[in-house]
Amino acid sequence: MLTDIKIAQGCKMLDITKIAEKMGIEEDDLELYGKYKAKLSDKLWDKVKTNKDGKLILVTAINPTPAGEGKTTTTVGLGQAMAKIGKNASIALREPSLGPVMGIKGGAAGGGYSQVVPMEDINLHFTGDMHAIAAANNLLSAAIDNHLHQGNSLNIDSRQIIWKRCMDMNDRALRSIIVGLGGKINGFPREDGFNITVASEVMAILCLSSDITDLKNRLGRIIIGYNYSGAPVTAKDLKADGAMALLLKDAIKPNLVQTLEGTPAIMHGGPFANIAHGCNSITATKLALKLSDYVITEAGFGADLGAEKFFDIKCRFAGFKPDAAVLVATIRALKYNGGVSKENLKTENIDALSKGFSNAKKHIENLRMFGIPVIVAINHFDTDTEREIQLVKDKCNALGVEVAFSDVFLKGGEGGIELANKLVKLLDSTASFFAPIYDINLPVKDKVQVIVSRIYGGNNVIYTAAAEKAIAKIEEMGLDKLPVCMAKTQYSLSDNASMLGCPKDFDVTVKEVRISAGAGFIVVLTGDIMTMPGLPKTPAAEKIDIQEDGTIIGLF
Ligand code: ADP
Ligand code: MG
Repeated sequence: MLTDIKIAQGCKMLDITKIAEKMGIEEDDLELYGKYKAKLSDKLWDKVKTNKDGKLILVTAINPTPAGEGKTTTTVGLGQAMAKIGKNASIALREPSLGPVMGIKGGAAGGGYSQVVPMEDINLHFTGDMHAIAAANNLLSAAIDNHLHQGNSLNIDSRQIIWKRCMDMNDRALRSIIVGLGGKINGFPREDGFNITVASEVMAILCLSSDITDLKNRLGRIIIGYNYSGAPVTAKDLKADGAMALLLKDAIKPNLVQTLEGTPAIMHGGPFANIAHGCNSITATKLALKLSDYVITEAGFGADLGAEKFFDIKCRFAGFKPDAAVLVATIRALKYNGGVSKENLKTENIDALSKGFSNAKKHIENLRMFGIPVIVAINHFDTDTEREIQLVKDKCNALGVEVAFSDVFLKGGEGGIELANKLVKLLDSTASFFAPIYDINLPVKDKVQVIVSRIYGGNNVIYTAAAEKAIAKIEEMGLDKLPVCMAKTQYSLSDNASMLGCPKDFDVTVKEVRISAGAGFIVVLTGDIMTMPGLPKTPAAEKIDIQEDGTIIGLF
């Protein structure tokens, strides 16, 4: 089989104006970035805001193997399949980050015959959103250090500055640094560090803002640190909010691209799925809903993290009522959850598969708890055996949950027709009674307990002294009536990556609690969460190259 990039390069893309036409968007409402990428103008929203919303379908997954189970690939393939069965569908995805692109093989543009294109641009600088976000983030950092240098009239305690610089690259050497060295003219030395851009609160804000004013207000509420009396200091106090919003004036506009089969794809925003909520922007999803009958979107990680935060944070803020969830399961991840080691996943193992299905079962129950109709998509890998596939189908049938075999990686939209047809039938026959799982007015610990007991299936939540202190501070600041954003391993329903399947009788330890006052959520960290990844021993970058004629190679 051809590599992803070869498949993508062989695609005859349509002019982006033609893709826009499929969604009923006129050329006047496009801001063109070359022939195949465009931003959607602000005026478009005013034109379509009274349209009826299409159906919103979330693609999520069981707990994965370290290789990823194909949510993006399924999202793209399902979008293509919907078009094949004559439906007006679009997809709404996150934008990739350069860190993972240059680090470990694996972009965020789908795979095989289910990709978004132009994949090279999308995986590199795209329309510049990431860089704009870094610029806005770093303007705030510069403003902080300048404020200290110019006399510190806000009495910022430089030991309690929590705002970090950022850039879109995996660079572990920048995790913890000292800035301001070199004497008086270079400011005051202090400890600082870098996050990867997608982990910046600015990214989360961009994705949760409804418009430029909301964006500015949220940026203004960012807490950069505390003063000597312990009171929060905000971006607004530093008068950075206006210029930050200006730097984001284009980044806030959703990007339009296409799949290999010419299905419209809106790609916008890409917050981390741990310290942030892990889904594309509200503005992009909102627009897509006004412009298509079906919108297929993805949330990062497994359903315990991604779907929970999609529902409890994004849908709550945006007022979305999702209509169905597609739970992506692979035979290999089910076997992994049944205790098979990474090396042996390619061998048929009915017992382990049967045991590992407990993981899918729990996720199905969880999605139903949110009131959402569910369909399981078996993302087909060529190592799956007939017996294994049949077993998963039988187990789904026994639970009364719809299941479809999906071969979109190998066959594109054609391979997703069964999934598309069954999804449409499910949407037509089963109403969604969507509701978030907790009330945001509950105390912080009660909100966390609801998620731990009901979604993870755990017992107690244990808090470190630091976490207790942080919660008390959040309550003191009156910021406790916000949703919680759980940061946890994606490999287990528990906070321990080695507890696979459907773990029981476990407690969850909260190590740290942070406030993202601008984004509007409380980050609850259950482990050591990396906000600046490192490169692996052999980074993907070593194989990436550009030839004399401009041909790009090695981008997967
Ligand atoms: P996720 O969004 O869940 O992280 P992706 O869709 O990005 O997963 O897929 C992860 C990796 O697996 C990608 O490199 C993708 O090309 C590959 N992949 C996905 N589905 C298949 C499949 N059915 N067969 C082979 N490779 C696949
Ligand atoms: Mg993905």
